[in-house]
Amino acid sequence: MHKQHLVSAVVLSSALIALVTGCGMNKSGESAAAHSLRAKTAHVVYRRTTLDGSPESTKAADVSEKPVVYGMRKFPYPYQAMLAISSDADSETLRKFNLVHEFINTTQMTPLGRGLGLDFADSFFMYNGNDEPGYVDIDHEPMSDELSYFKGVSDKPYAASVLNHYMHVGWIDTMHTYGDFSRVNQNTTLFNRTLAQQAIRALKENGDTITVWTDHGNKSNVDNFGAYGKAPFYDYEQGANPSSVYYHTDLTIPYGVDFVWPDVSSDEVGMKSVIYPLMLPDGRRVWGFWRYTNSGYNQQGDPEWNWTPYHLTDQLSAAHLAQLEKAHDYCVIAQHLSGTVYSGVLGKSAVSALSRLAVQDHEGHILVTRTSRLLQYNVTQQYVSYDVTNDNGTAYIHIRSILDPVLGAHVPTLAEVRGLTFYTSDPARTVIEIGDTPIASRYIEDHPSDGEHPSVEIQWYPVDTTNYAEAEPCVA
Ligand SMILES: [Zn+2]
Repeated sequence: MHKQHLVSAVVLSSALIALVTGCGMNKSGESAAAHSLRAKTAHVVYRRTTLDGSPESTKAADVSEKPVVYGMRKFPYPYQAMLAISSDADSETLRKFNLVHEFINTTQMTPLGRGLGLDFADSFFMYNGNDEPGYVDIDHEPMSDELSYFKGVSDKPYAASVLNHYMHVGWIDTMHTYGDFSRVNQNTTLFNRTLAQQAIRALKENGDTITVWTDHGNKSNVDNFGAYGKAPFYDYEQGANPSSVYYHTDLTIPYGVDFVWPDVSSDEVGMKSVIYPLMLPDGRRVWGFWRYTNSGYNQQGDPEWNWTPYHLTDQLSAAHLAQLEKAHDYCVIAQHLSGTVYSGVLGKSAVSALSRLAVQDHEGHILVTRTSRLLQYNVTQQYVSYDVTNDNGTAYIHIRSILDPVLGAHVPTLAEVRGLTFYTSDPARTVIEIGDTPIASRYIEDHPSDGEHPSVEIQWYPVDTTNYAEAEPCVA
């Protein structure tokens, strides 16, 4: 499965590129929230609950005066599809991490070209228990310097401070398991439950919120748990087995992990929905999700992985992007953006693939966002429950609940409904509420017709192009 370290695939041919780790902070560039030009005043709710926003349900005596809510648009206006890049932390160093994020997230000039200004969040390790030979970065950087929160499997911080920083600012949203525990001898491991306890304690103490887990590595990575029971191959995955010394999901899931990518391949680029209920061996329920990991399967049935920077141009081909848009699909691209020992980190074809994707985002076709936001939106879009009432020539959309079949039905927070977009005949006279409380007007955007209808949106997250890159003494 995804066992080989990508450091073996070294590209030596490229011209040397000056490396900049971007220690300079620019906290002032944060995008200001766009404000709705139209004030929405409080009102008396006329409680005429209806099942949905269909025209019948808003029928009344004075039809011409009443806005009609037609239903939801699948994605925030004007986008036709939504895509996240989910990059595994294998062979990550701070040097590579900063180079990749300055290029993808900011709009500054970088060694890879003008920054793309896309919303992209990465993954990270808490520990490094890898004893495989080879280098993790240029200048013969040893595997022991791979980016991790603690040094090795100790309780001594390594990159803890800068990783906390990136979790807080949104450049990291995914835990790529507790660590890189891949060993040459796959019958051995350095993982144990105490390490999970120590990790959760540290994350909580620093206010680090992580909602996404992706499985990693070879059979030494016994803390994996997403695919246990799927096939005999996955017997090594002991993280959710209550009778195992490697059991940890009783800590990890309550900590806040809602979404899990098990070590399972997919050659589907886009899907109507990328989430599915996943029952763990200990009875806990989480959302599983699909990532696009391989172009197809060979004659033996093995995946033809295409999740390295060398294949990014195939993953993000113009045909794939057009297909996503046409089908109104979700897509999570699996990658290993820091997986190479190449001074530029991303080669020319990877840079042009990302640039091609950025054009789709900037032109309003494909909304590129971080994995955690895509997955949350997918749940909300699929399971939101609302009704529409009318009063005095205004339509009120009452968001009642997220009927989440995995984590439980609940009244959503504002963060959980960001991006929801409703078609209406008159955005100026359509109010969106959570329950019976209007959402603040600064979070509401009105849109002209997209060919179907005009719409009103709970504003999607403004892109934050701040350069958050930081250097850390003694961290490679
Ligand atoms: Zn991995």
